[in-house]
Amino acid sequence: MITCNVASLDEKIHTFGKFGDTGKGGITRFSLSPEALKARSEFQKRMEAIGAIVTTDDMANMYATVPGTEALPAVVSGSHLDSVRQGGNYDGVLGVLSAMEALETIVRQKVSHRHPFTALVWTNEEGARFEPAMMSSGVICNKFPKEKMLASIAKDQPGYTFGDALAASGFVGDEANRLSPDNACALIELHIEQGPVLEAEGYDIGVVDGVCGMINYEFTFVGQADHAGTTPMKYRKDALYAAVKAIQHLHDQLDQLDPALVYTTGKISAHPNIHTIIPDEVKVTLDARHYDPAVIQQVLAIIHAMPTEWVGCQMHYEEAWSRKSVAYDERLVTMVANSADALGYTKLQMHSGPGYEFL
Ligand SMILES: [Zn+2]
Repeated sequence: MITCNVASLDEKIHTFGKFGDTGKGGITRFSLSPEALKARSEFQKRMEAIGAIVTTDDMANMYATVPGTEALPAVVSGSHLDSVRQGGNYDGVLGVLSAMEALETIVRQKVSHRHPFTALVWTNEEGARFEPAMMSSGVICNKFPKEKMLASIAKDQPGYTFGDALAASGFVGDEANRLSPDNACALIELHIEQGPVLEAEGYDIGVVDGVCGMINYEFTFVGQADHAGTTPMKYRKDALYAAVKAIQHLHDQLDQLDPALVYTTGKISAHPNIHTIIPDEVKVTLDARHYDPAVIQQVLAIIHAMPTEWVGCQMHYEEAWSRKSVAYDERLVTMVANSADALGYTKLQMHSGPGYEFL
């Protein structure tokens, strides 16, 4: 078995960890920021140094390819170099650095291979400065319209668009260079778990076999705005209290379902949001995720069976977005599991909770 060099990977983690180091134990490396461009240049420099051909596509996704002995589609590995504000030192970057390490090892040890190997960097996977997340992978998977993405405005700079940042980056290439099922046959990504399970249960490696399906609903409660001091309790139509009751009802019902179901009310807005006014309109979200579509159907049944009136307020809801669960290619899943066994790492088969875009 061919293995990579831990010291060499460690050196990369330290070098790339300096790009956007906040000095407070976190990394802030927004996509296409000066720090992110330094990380991209370092990726390009190191990949060209081993003889890889570095190209970019029209969304500035980067591809460093070591050609194989035959004209076959590439085996691809990679992730993202951008981070959220005060993000972790491993999120995304570890997938890029391990892909680089694999390519370096293949070249250094002169391993003969038929397929090309490509190390990949996605542009703006986090969406921390320009929404949405998974922007450029989404564009090449035809999930997001490119023109709309180019018009996305920086959260901290009115009028400055993602298209402006892209044009200024110097990393825009040809649309023909996009990753596609024609030029790639497999994609594998190493990513930190972003959850507590592996550490809490003492496993080294999570063997991810697919991505959970998700639904996201927005509920609106409509009551009546009145003065907090002059309106007796019995005359009130308090939309926030209605939302509280409905959220409690959802928790009680959803907790009866499979324990692997996760659900969250992460966003709430109250109108007029003034401490002396009874709220007349409140919106809350429900995000629910599970691998089994049958469980998602049970969640939907609970939503559909909810009363439309709560403590005198009307409730309506709509689906904000949803995503079906996706099973990964079994051959690749098995390969990860077998590699963990061969190297003596403990492993746990699991589903991915965060989202991904797929070709
Ligand atoms: Zn990530």
